[in-house]
Amino acid sequence: MMQTPLTMTQMIKRAEKYFPKKQVISRTTKGIERFTYKEMAERTRRLADSLEKLGVQRGDKVGTLAWNHHRHLEAYFAIPCSGAVLHTINIRLAPQHISYIINHAEDKVLLIDADIVPLIEKCKDEFTTVEAYVIMTDEDELPETTLSPVYHYEKLLEEGNPNYEYPDDLDENSPAGMCFTSATTGNPKGVVYSHRGTVLHSMALGMVDSAAVSEKDVALPVVPMFHVNAWGLPFAGVWFGTTLVLPGPYFTPKILAELLEEEKVTITAGVPTIWLGLLKELEEKKYDLSNLRYILCGGSAAPKGMIKAFEQKHNIPFKHAYGMTETSPLAVISTLKSYQEELSEEEKLEIKAKQGILVPGLEMKVVGKDGEVAWDGKEMGELALRGPWIASEYFKDERTADTFRDGWLYTGDVVTLDEEGFMKIVDRTKDLIKSGGEWISSVDIENALMAHEAVFEAAVVAVPHEQWQERPIACVVLKEKDGATKEELYDFLKPQFAKWWLPDDILFLEEIPKTSVGKFLKRALRDQVQKDYLQ
Ligand code: ADP
Repeated sequence: MMQTPLTMTQMIKRAEKYFPKKQVISRTTKGIERFTYKEMAERTRRLADSLEKLGVQRGDKVGTLAWNHHRHLEAYFAIPCSGAVLHTINIRLAPQHISYIINHAEDKVLLIDADIVPLIEKCKDEFTTVEAYVIMTDEDELPETTLSPVYHYEKLLEEGNPNYEYPDDLDENSPAGMCFTSATTGNPKGVVYSHRGTVLHSMALGMVDSAAVSEKDVALPVVPMFHVNAWGLPFAGVWFGTTLVLPGPYFTPKILAELLEEEKVTITAGVPTIWLGLLKELEEKKYDLSNLRYILCGGSAAPKGMIKAFEQKHNIPFKHAYGMTETSPLAVISTLKSYQEELSEEEKLEIKAKQGILVPGLEMKVVGKDGEVAWDGKEMGELALRGPWIASEYFKDERTADTFRDGWLYTGDVVTLDEEGFMKIVDRTKDLIKSGGEWISSVDIENALMAHEAVFEAAVVAVPHEQWQERPIACVVLKEKDGATKEELYDFLKPQFAKWWLPDDILFLEEIPKTSVGKFLKRALRDQVQKDYLQ
């Protein structure tokens, strides 16, 4: 067979050639803007040319600090297709982490949304490699800023060559993108994506039994483009000619519901927190979301109660998926097997609440105390993965040796596999509760609590215990104040768990601390609970 390189250039060129009329819909501070792929592709060529004129060369890192919008999408292709490296930076990180990752990645140019400029001004004196700033603003003029030298994105585009030719000799194994993931302690860890990995991961998103992204779809990634490339949807979407809806900054569940309805969105993707918010909105107001083929949910476990509400009350199919920054991210996805479709609603729900089965193209093993675990849905082990879109190391980081061993990525997630090979996350290794030598899954108790109608959110953490080493404490946010008592919640849990799994206490909180991407911040919660509880 021929050895043609799998580079991202073919993706943008395909959209330009075959789907010039299809649209990118972008929510900006000026309202909804629409661009055809013809326009988008031309703007992308102009950007690639302008970045080169700013001194960006092959292999140079270009950082983006931006929300989900059309300019960010242009950067998604202009940077890697010209041979540079797209480094998407999580704008919700603490300033010292932002400075660390910009310096560690050695970013040469930064593309920044206007509203994020003040944050970068605070960090700029720490930067060691940045040579130029480009501001992505909806206004004609630049905002006042101490960043220098600074350029206006649209003016750069005006000066860029619309016929810029992408290099045709890029190596498929050369770096295309880069993303940092938070670590339990210390600085975030960098993952570098190759062209090849990105192309193959995009193909996997198009497989019918995985996310089945297609030309006919209207896809709205809620997951930020600064978090694992919005799960790769922008890459796959452009390649396949999918209509993309990019929701812009500071949107609310109401804005999301309106966009889903007005743009007749067929696929949307994000973390459970987003869907809990949307559910609340749907309970207050009626929207026509009948075009939605499914909601793709990952990043943390989707509570069964939530899946049930979407599917049975609102008639919106729900797809649970699992991945991490190191896995591009799609690795496991929950699509029922044909013969499972015949099961009862309750049985199907049980399967859908699991993360799913391995996506074709990857390999997995689950390693327990005595080697690989049995497929019995009970024995727990750590999930390890390998494959062409799985990272092989952290970028210039000695923590590589802890995670990447013998050609496998050890995910730090503890899982079980059932008889059908469906994987269920039990916990992250660091969040498991070890009581009397046995493991208790915080995730299972959380999901059970969140299935109670009065509960909005629940997180379970360990507190140290003299006799049992650790015991679980549940923290619950109620939908309405006094919506349920502790006793009612205990009565609800008792039939579902062994006695020793029941939390030692249930605390009612106003809110649960969250990470920069909306997941429960277990570390902070654990510290808070241990401090208050043990006093
Ligand atoms: P961070 O460490 O910043 O949260 P990632 O976004 O890469 O970084 O998160 C990956 C982790 O998220 C996984 O290791 C796993 O613990 C968790 N995760 C991802 N998808 C799911 C899911 N569907 N259910 C439960 N946990 C998930």
